[in-house]
Amino acid sequence: MTEVQAEAAFRKVRWPDTQGEPVCPSCGSPACYDCRRPNGAPRWRCKACRADYSITSGTLFAHHKMPLRSYLAAIAIFCNEVKGKSMLALSRDLGTQYKTAFVLAHKMREAMATEMKGRIVGGPGKVAETDGAYFGGYVKPANYRENRRDRRLGRNQNGKRQCVVVVRERNGHSLPAVFRNEAQALSFIRQRVSKETTLNADEAGLWNPLHGKYEMRRINHEEAYSDGFACTNQAESFFSRMRRAEIGHHHHLAGPYLLRYAQEASWREDNRRLANGEQINAVTTLAMRSKPSVDFCGYWQRAQAPKEAAE
Ligand SMILES: [Zn+2]
Repeated sequence: MTEVQAEAAFRKVRWPDTQGEPVCPSCGSPACYDCRRPNGAPRWRCKACRADYSITSGTLFAHHKMPLRSYLAAIAIFCNEVKGKSMLALSRDLGTQYKTAFVLAHKMREAMATEMKGRIVGGPGKVAETDGAYFGGYVKPANYRENRRDRRLGRNQNGKRQCVVVVRERNGHSLPAVFRNEAQALSFIRQRVSKETTLNADEAGLWNPLHGKYEMRRINHEEAYSDGFACTNQAESFFSRMRRAEIGHHHHLAGPYLLRYAQEASWREDNRRLANGEQINAVTTLAMRSKPSVDFCGYWQRAQAPKEAAE
């Protein structure tokens, strides 16, 4: 694909109502001068409010530096994967630095996450499942046996372990969230699962308070994974995908971006039956509709600067 074709493709996605004709993002006026940058990159000046803007102004890819073609390529490569994409591999595919690929992939996850904003799972007559799984906080065993500690005990853990809880409607959408432990997820479930839903959960006692709000079905995994009545297998298959992304691609899913990886797994799970081209289209559209990145835009000028800047 040439740069001109990539430009046309992005314009169609960005301004679908005008068949790709530019519309000012600050005042909404379609009247503009064509004033490309000296290097040929597309740019317009609004006749009404005099603002300069490009194809990506005010979207997730705002302030972009690479040619537009690379962004399309990145989305395609990212969507071709089933469980996830290693940033190192993405940087090699695109010919960029590792950090560039890292930020780019996280912006795509952010775009996927916008689809889940305010999502409510279930409804009258619908069935949903919930489950949790732990990520991060790995403690390496000491070399010599006599120095090893029982890593199951709380005092020998490092406190970095986090719990991903997912609610998933059968044959519907899923929604993940991150907590310190499963018990803290109860209010999230009450908010995001509709009241008349039949909710499936495993035998863990911490789900018991949910009986007050939902018709609950419980399955004891020590006896069976499904008794033809209750099961949490679709929630488990979300975790299967996420765990495989951890083992096969990322090796370490933890820390502040754990939720983003969970949202990526959730998006891939929900859209798994979409054709490859439709997935690419969907992510491009989401990115063009999203605001500039909350995680990776202007972080260097925010008041609550990262630790090293505060010191
Ligand atoms: Zn304007």
